[in-house]
Amino acid sequence: MNLQEMDLEYVLHSYARNYVNFKYGNNAKLYDEDGQEYIDFTSGIGVVSVGHGNKRLAGAICDQAQKIIHISNLYLIEPQALVAKRLVELSGYDMRLFFANSGAEANEGAIKIARKYGEVDGEVKRYKIITLKHSFHGRTITALKATGQEAMHTYFGPFPDGFVYADDISQIPSLIDDHTVAVMIELIQGEGGVEPQDKKKVQDLAKMLKEKDILLIIDEVQTGIYRTGEFLASNLYEIEPDIITLAKGLGGGVPIGAIMTRLKDIFAPGDHGSTFGGNYLSTRAALEVIAILQEYKEAGRLNEMIAYFDKWLQKIAKEYSALFEKAVGFGFMRGLRCKSSEMQSKIIEKSFENGVLVLKAGRNTVRFLPPITITKEEIDEGMKRFEKALEEI
Ligand SMILES: *Cc1c(COP(=O)(O)O)cnc(C)c1O
Repeated sequence: MNLQEMDLEYVLHSYARNYVNFKYGNNAKLYDEDGQEYIDFTSGIGVVSVGHGNKRLAGAICDQAQKIIHISNLYLIEPQALVAKRLVELSGYDMRLFFANSGAEANEGAIKIARKYGEVDGEVKRYKIITLKHSFHGRTITALKATGQEAMHTYFGPFPDGFVYADDISQIPSLIDDHTVAVMIELIQGEGGVEPQDKKKVQDLAKMLKEKDILLIIDEVQTGIYRTGEFLASNLYEIEPDIITLAKGLGGGVPIGAIMTRLKDIFAPGDHGSTFGGNYLSTRAALEVIAILQEYKEAGRLNEMIAYFDKWLQKIAKEYSALFEKAVGFGFMRGLRCKSSEMQSKIIEKSFENGVLVLKAGRNTVRFLPPITITKEEIDEGMKRFEKALEEI
């Protein structure tokens, strides 16, 4: 039995996998078992923020693993306290943290915070949460129900009550009633097609919600930790959310999720918890990832590479206007909107054949989420291969 057969025999078929066996990587480069090189414009769906095989991150993980990996949240966890402090400082928000293990779990926690706030604050019990169509908030039953894509609600019901979907931000005010406790949005929808929200609209929404004492939850699972060029997309949009969720890029590949909130005293002991959340290994990794990316940003490298990537993307969108409507997104969360879904699938397939990994996203978008530490040489090589793939279509 070869590996592919083994995978098919023993692992549930919930993913449409590509059967390539990657053996090692170096920043934005991956190598398979035959030594074939790939440029990785996906970074494990926005996770491997400091690149593959990052020696600094590996060193921190090794060092921590040799001391303590896990002790539970019943005791003080030094790197957890340190990383919470760094996240608060870099965000500029007066908040406290809770640590989970994934994006969905962080969003679950955010929803619990909002629900508790709605229970104890005011006379009417408030529980409704407004989210957007095309949003993506995760795969647990509640996060799935928070996800406004009806197609994802085909099975698995009955779902928890209290989620309302707006077509877009402008429709949100008309959906608010006495039971509304929160609005949860992504500032750039990732899975939904790399669709950025309008800054002014978001700021107006934030102001209106504040006046009505409705919480604003920003799902920064994909946009957070320098993905957009700023530490948080919330910083870029110049808003002050009540709750922010993080995950993907935070641990550089070590599973971690986090909830930041200005509601510092919302939870009492016993209200929420996690066995693994915020353990030594994941928070030590996050601490190192943040340090690496902060230095990278402060040295001006991040903005330089984002601009360089953008130039390539704009050029390709223009030269291949028969295939693409436009380039979308910003920072290192980018996409090319294809003219059809057949085109989208074909481009992703051809790219893979030419040694460059790109992602699928909603609205027929070919999505690019490169490691944040990608180099000029890697961008050039990846884009040349991508162009070659387009030539073959
Ligand atoms: C990926 C993603 C999630 C889910 O994260 P998991 O770690 O897969 O649970 C939630 N929200 C957004 C915006 C995401 O991009």
